[in-house]
Amino acid sequence: QKELLQEFALKPAVTQDGFQVEIAANIGTPKEAVTALEEGAEGIGLYRTEFLFMNATAIPDEEEQYQAYKEVAVTMGERPVVIRTLDIGGDKDLPYLSLPEEMNPFLGYRAIRLCLDQLPILKTQLRAILRASVHGNLKVMFPMISNLQEWRQAKSIFDEVREELEREGVSFDSSIEVGIMIEVPSAALLADRFAKEVDFFSIGTNDLVQYTVAVDRMNEKVAHLYDYFHPSVIRLIKTVIEEAHKEGKWVGMCGGMAGDPLAAPLLIGLGLDEWSMDAGSVNKIKREISRLNREDCRKLTTHMLELDTNEEIREELKKILQN
Ligand code: PEP
Ligand code: MG
Repeated sequence: QKELLQEFALKPAVTQDGFQVEIAANIGTPKEAVTALEEGAEGIGLYRTEFLFMNATAIPDEEEQYQAYKEVAVTMGERPVVIRTLDIGGDKDLPYLSLPEEMNPFLGYRAIRLCLDQLPILKTQLRAILRASVHGNLKVMFPMISNLQEWRQAKSIFDEVREELEREGVSFDSSIEVGIMIEVPSAALLADRFAKEVDFFSIGTNDLVQYTVAVDRMNEKVAHLYDYFHPSVIRLIKTVIEEAHKEGKWVGMCGGMAGDPLAAPLLIGLGLDEWSMDAGSVNKIKREISRLNREDCRKLTTHMLELDTNEEIREELKKILQN
């Protein structure tokens, strides 16, 4: 059984009618990139850099960060690697930053909000990423963007850092892409505006779902309400993909939904370009995609968008899930 399952790991993910998508992996450490490759990942769709910061007693300096990002770049070679800037706060603490206690940490001082407030942290990280970019195919991604100002401010810091490196004569990949995570509903709803300015989107369903349906999935009293098949979530995903494609930009997904075979027909139908998941899911998702037909998925998706509840959508998807 294992042999049969792994059969798809090293093949591309192509539907019966020839639609190919990129299957990437999420990692938290440079070592995990090696496993990702072995499991058949075609890139890294999300490198959660916060683990580098969480496994330290002080903010890692530029050199230490550079070494980590370079290691991932070298491991992956020409394959794309999306490095997400520090996503701390929420449930992820950095004791040495002495972050304030908050009533609602997930609605508070986290991710890009913290980085735009503590610019030296962001600048050091962007310098390290840019320097490492000569060793592979790196891309930069900002987390928790909720309005255009935040994106523009982060992008201008990035441009400033680029210019600084140029002045210093330090080389970097000058065509490096810069994108944002779509994990806050306010950003999803403005996807048309963002799409004109960013190079790519990556949909973070873990946060997008909790913010859209107002549910803490760790709270067992309400966890049953947390579902990426909620019709509102699907509408948001549809909007994001459509608006990005109108501007010729690609869309990835790095939240848990991308690694769920049940969601595959829907995501193929919506036209998701890049799927990023735990390395252990790569083979089974490639297998599921290889059995699907894109035209059928499109029709199915049109039908599913007319359904009223997450249960109905799940039932429809279960009918076509291949065993
Ligand atoms: C997400 O929110 O879906 C995501 C990928 O980010 P994280 O899980 O690291 O918050
Ligand atoms: Mg998130």
